[in-house]
Amino acid sequence: MPDGSAGTTSLVNIGTLVTNDPSVGAGALGMITDAAVVVEHGRVAWVGPSRACGPADEQVDLEGRAVLPGFVDSHAHMVFAGDRSAEFAARMSGEPYSAGGIRSTVDRTRAATDDELRTTLTRLANEMRMSGITTFETKSGYGLTERDEARSLRLALSETTETTFLGAHVVPAEFASDPDGYVALVSGAMLDICAPFARWIDVFCDRGAFDADQARHILLAGADHGLVPRVHANQLQPGDGIRVAVEVGAASADHCTYATDSDIELLAGSTTVATLLPGAEFSTRSPYPDARRMLDAGVTVALATDCNPGSSFTTSMPFCIAVAVRDMRMTPDEAVWSATAGGAAALRRDDIGRVTVGSRADLVSLDAPSHVHLAYRPGVDLVDRVWLSTTTPKVDA
Ligand SMILES: [Zn+2]
Repeated sequence: MPDGSAGTTSLVNIGTLVTNDPSVGAGALGMITDAAVVVEHGRVAWVGPSRACGPADEQVDLEGRAVLPGFVDSHAHMVFAGDRSAEFAARMSGEPYSAGGIRSTVDRTRAATDDELRTTLTRLANEMRMSGITTFETKSGYGLTERDEARSLRLALSETTETTFLGAHVVPAEFASDPDGYVALVSGAMLDICAPFARWIDVFCDRGAFDADQARHILLAGADHGLVPRVHANQLQPGDGIRVAVEVGAASADHCTYATDSDIELLAGSTTVATLLPGAEFSTRSPYPDARRMLDAGVTVALATDCNPGSSFTTSMPFCIAVAVRDMRMTPDEAVWSATAGGAAALRRDDIGRVTVGSRADLVSLDAPSHVHLAYRPGVDLVDRVWLSTTTPKVDA
C-alpha cells in the first residue's frame, strides 16, 4: 500500500467486504460481496463491486478473501515491566483476582529503564498489528509518580496518538495511609506534568481502587486540562463507575461486567460507549458482561483487548471476538462491528473503523471468505495481510 506518493492501488476480488457503512452495502456492516476498494494517498478513494472498479496504478487480487476495517483497540495497558504468569497460574488454581496485583507491576515498572519499557511496548504493538489491530489506545498507570507516569505516556506516544493518563489506577503503597493525598497529587501536580502527553484521562473506579467522589474529582480536573474522560467501571462488583462515566460525559465506560438495569439505561441514553473486555473475564475466570442486554437496550458497544500483564495478557482481537460471540451472546456481525466501528466510537474517531470514501486505508484481509470465520474458527490465525494507511509496505501477518 502506498503512503500517498505512489498513486492509486485497487484491492479487487474481495470475497466479502465489511464497510460498516449501511448506505453502501447490506446490513449494519454494510457488506459488499465480490467487492473492490481503491486507495489513494493513504485514504479510501472508492468502494464498490469489483466489476465496476476502474483502473489503478497498482492492483492487488484478494482471490476471494474477506476484507474488513482494521481493528480498533480502544483499551490497553502496554507500558509496563515484569511478568505475572505465576499470579495467573495461582488464580487458575483458585486464588481470587484483586486490584492489588497492579502494585507488583508498579514496582517493576518504576525500576525499569526506558529501553526496557520501550522494548516491551514495541513487541506488543507489533503483536497487535499482526493480529489486525491498526489503531490502539494505551494507558499509563504503572508508574504512579509524576516522573514515571509522564515517562510512560511519553514512551507510549512513540507508538500511538491515543494515550491515556491513568495515574488513578490504584493508590500506590507509599500513599496507603493517605489516599486523599494521592488523589490531590493525581488531579494536581501529576496531571499538570502528564496532560501534555495525553488525549484522555481514566480512573479505575471500583473496589480496592477509587470511589465515585474521588473518580469524579480526578476526571473533572483532567477535563479542565483538555483531557476527555474514560472510566474503568463496574469490573469487580456493582458500583458507581458507569454512573460517574455518564455524568462526566466520558467517551467510554470500560468493563461494565456488573452493570445493573439502571446503569444500562443510563448508557443507552448517553454518548458514552460501553467497552467490553472479554480477555479480562477469561483471564480472571469471572462472569462475562451481558452484551446482549446492552445491545438490546440500544447501548453502543465496543470490544477491546485490555492488554495488560495482570488480568488480560492478550493482543488478539480475533480472540476477543470469538469469546464475545460464544460467551457474551453477541452475533458475529455485532462482535466485528464492536471491534472496529465500536472501538472508533469509543475513541471518538470517524476516520477509522470503517471502509468508506475518505476514511483511513487501515484494512485487514483474512484467509477466509467472510468475517464470520473470526468466531467460527476460534484460535486460528486467519489474518492474511494488514494495511496501515501511514506505512509502506503492508504488514504480512
Ligand atoms: Zn484496563
